[in-house]
Amino acid sequence: MGTGKATRTIVQRLETRKLDWVASTIGLYNEVAHFYFLVITNYPSLQGLGVKNATSKLEKLTVVSKARPAVEIPLPWDKLPRDFRRAAIASAVGSASSFFTNLNKWSNRKQARQAKGKKFTERPPVPPRTWNIKPTFYAQMYLRDSFAVMLKLFTGESWSWVKFKTVGREIPQGWEFRCPHLVQKGGRLELHFPIEKVFEKPQKVKEQVKDEDVKICSVDLNISDRLAVCTILKRDGTQVATKFIRGGDYLNARRKCCLGRVARNRRLTGICKSGETDNKGLWEKVRHIDDYEAHRISRRIVDFARENGASIIVFEHLANFKPKKGKYSRRGNEKRAYWLRGKIYKFTKYKAWEYGIIISRVNPRNTSRDCSYCDVSPIFRHGEHEQPTEYRPGAPLFTCANGHRGNADLNASRNIGFKLFARHGYQKPVASESLRRGCSNSPCNLPNNEMDVVTSGVVRESERGTGAPHVYPSLVGCEPIITEPEVIQPSLFDLQEVESTTQMLRTPRRQGCRKKQETTSDSIQLSLF
Ligand SMILES: [Zn+2]
Repeated sequence: MGTGKATRTIVQRLETRKLDWVASTIGLYNEVAHFYFLVITNYPSLQGLGVKNATSKLEKLTVVSKARPAVEIPLPWDKLPRDFRRAAIASAVGSASSFFTNLNKWSNRKQARQAKGKKFTERPPVPPRTWNIKPTFYAQMYLRDSFAVMLKLFTGESWSWVKFKTVGREIPQGWEFRCPHLVQKGGRLELHFPIEKVFEKPQKVKEQVKDEDVKICSVDLNISDRLAVCTILKRDGTQVATKFIRGGDYLNARRKCCLGRVARNRRLTGICKSGETDNKGLWEKVRHIDDYEAHRISRRIVDFARENGASIIVFEHLANFKPKKGKYSRRGNEKRAYWLRGKIYKFTKYKAWEYGIIISRVNPRNTSRDCSYCDVSPIFRHGEHEQPTEYRPGAPLFTCANGHRGNADLNASRNIGFKLFARHGYQKPVASESLRRGCSNSPCNLPNNEMDVVTSGVVRESERGTGAPHVYPSLVGCEPIITEPEVIQPSLFDLQEVESTTQMLRTPRRQGCRKKQETTSDSIQLSLF
């Protein structure tokens, strides 16, 4: 088995001082990198080399020393620190390699088109027109401790060490850090430390599901208040734990408020010139709200999976956004709610990888339309006090023709998990089996004649629990299956999940209060992203 590597960036903020020296250092770094880029493009023998080889060859070509008094292309700058020059060379080699890769791909495409006798109109890639690389500080260029960092900066004439106080996260334990990049954002200075962790590479999904005890965390992402519903499932159909991550309504309200303000501002100013960004602050706020939520939710998904020992997280492939008619702010809000799901997936992927948890995706077809206990399709979706008569998209509860009831999103989440097992040849057990496991006092264990709770005209209870293939009555034109919700034995479905659902529905939501956002069996500590 190989090793896996996780990388991330830790940002440390520097106190704002000596901005002119910082600017001249960044400017010089980019000039040097551009110079070496031109050298590489003019010497085909240097192209396609790794950083190490290219650096030694480029230094022989350009750097004067005692052993090498004359070189082919002398550097136009005096007294460049060695590590500064080498970092710039590495950046130039990176840019050149990316440029030549693109050029090769382009010429391959051209040849392929021309071989077919077709016209090729695509323009070739061009070398970078402007240079805006963040300088890397190699070992001889900086010194750091917990509260400060010393950087060697170019003053415009000479080199000088400057001390900056730093604020930011420490490098977490078990991670190694690499050379930092200096980033200037307006009047703000930051040092970005790439950090790395090496661990044993997890096995592929195909291998992992061979283990009988493997646990997966299946996640259903929504645009309603229940942003994510997670379920820990085992291969035999056991549902180990569930977690509802809420806060969608609060998020939508905040986002819509910003979008409404954008729309009102635009009405006042008219159409802006093309290329001009309007309402910068508001758009930034919208982006920050979404990023924050995506980080919050992905962190909770990963923590939940870890707590329960799940080694795979399953999502469904995200469907395309289908806009509905409505006001600008409403459409924009809905669109962003869809995009948020993509962000959550992306963030969960890299956060999970740090713990050796892998991500898989399944086909979203019918995940919310099938009953996860007995595969009846479609189920009825309805509100708490509604009769289950139709599939109403977005409704919180579901009832199937066999009387299974519960939270509709939890049902979807279970379906997603079972789809992953089914893909590798492990079909979920028949409904009766999973029900028995879920509730030990269930009437499913009783003889069939004791289970006839619901009278004729509706689905007979005895049809469940026999283990025989189910034959479902036609759903068209039949009466509402459950006329009295109280008649249903609570133990026929997972009591806990329905309780938590009804609890959720009955709790009046307080706007602006973030404490009530999650309904979960266990409380999750708030941790850093
Ligand atoms: Zn069912």
